[in-house]
Amino acid sequence: MAVYRRVSEVLVRTGWLNVLRRSSSATRGLKVGESNPNITASLKITTKETLKDDSILPFSAFLTDNFGRRHNYLRISLTEKCNLRCQYCMPEEGVKLTPRGQLLSTTELLTLARLFVREGVDKIRLTGGEPLIRPDVVHIIAELKKLEGLKTVAVTTNAINLARLLPKLKEAGLDLINISLDSLVPAKFEFIVRRKGFHKVMEGIDKAIELGYNPVKINCVVMRGFNEDELLDFVALTENKPVEVRFIEYMPFDGNKWNFKKMVSYQEMLDGIRQRWPNMEKLEGAHMDTAKTFRIPNFKGQVGFITSMSDHFCGSCNRLRITADGNLKVCLFGNSEVSLRDIMRSGASDEELLHIIGAAVGRKKKQHAGMFSISQMKNRPMILIGG
Ligand code: SAM
Ligand code: SF4
Repeated sequence: MAVYRRVSEVLVRTGWLNVLRRSSSATRGLKVGESNPNITASLKITTKETLKDDSILPFSAFLTDNFGRRHNYLRISLTEKCNLRCQYCMPEEGVKLTPRGQLLSTTELLTLARLFVREGVDKIRLTGGEPLIRPDVVHIIAELKKLEGLKTVAVTTNAINLARLLPKLKEAGLDLINISLDSLVPAKFEFIVRRKGFHKVMEGIDKAIELGYNPVKINCVVMRGFNEDELLDFVALTENKPVEVRFIEYMPFDGNKWNFKKMVSYQEMLDGIRQRWPNMEKLEGAHMDTAKTFRIPNFKGQVGFITSMSDHFCGSCNRLRITADGNLKVCLFGNSEVSLRDIMRSGASDEELLHIIGAAVGRKKKQHAGMFSISQMKNRPMILIGG
């Protein structure tokens, strides 16, 4: 009972008891007693094992939202720290870092990962901050790879440490790599990331190709007046390298001096590239794909566009995020977060945690507020919410 009381206290403190109650009818398979604080007794548990609906595969009710979206993809931020200072991600003066004791420990992180995988998550992406500066990143990947049901472990990295670490990461089981690179001109790269390191990133890309990653994804945030003149050079990289260059529409975040004019839309990028390569053909995308992908005949690699702003993919969003300080975020553009760390540290059981997660997923909105509203929204900087 002491544990239940502690859980209830945390729920009341964080406002989540009300959330649970309000969202209970909306969260399929969950029932919340109106006034009973004993969460376990008042909730009817429906797990992946017991839920049989009309779909092909059973999927956890906790990870299914009110619009039928199944969240099988979890992004975990390993750290808030970074060895670069990208202008669009991080304010120049840096961000206020969470004290160490308030960050998830490796054991807590793996406990959460195990829970999500048990409920049906089959892909985990490690992000940050810069995930490869976490000292035990190799250990974390090796442990994640032991989770039955987890098919893919991916990492999004700025690649400064990649060439050095990749052999070990690969041995640990790393499946996919996304590398961020916004300019192919060293001086421009150093201007945008406010640090040196262009050649290390290029080495990282080559090492990933050498070790057989295919495609190596290269994320390029396109900003008017900065790198939109390099689009063709990025596309040309796909001629001889098995890379997927993915152009990302610049997104607004607190501190990145969002200016709508800086965003280059998907259509504008596509038109520009088609002038040079009119025969670039669209590839059939999987339902959950966030990128619209293309290939130029006879090129080894491909080109993708992440249209988070001009043509959002909320309808097929299957992602959840856990921040380095243990908050669950159901939408990158929403500011509602729930602290799984506090719930865990209060001694909650897996089932109790699941109900909190289920309630948060149940409150996920149908779509984000649209690009004009997002640019006005208060949100934590990208670096703190784990890209
Ligand atoms: N440090 C790693 C990296 O840079 O790849 C992982 C974290 S970073 C926040 C994840 C991704 O978010 C990167 O590809 C980065 O380019 C992208 N990103 C950051 N701020 C962005 C913004 N304002 N608009 C669009 N993409 C952004
Ligand atoms: Fe660091 Fe990645 Fe943000 Fe750049 S985009 S500052 S590399 S976290």
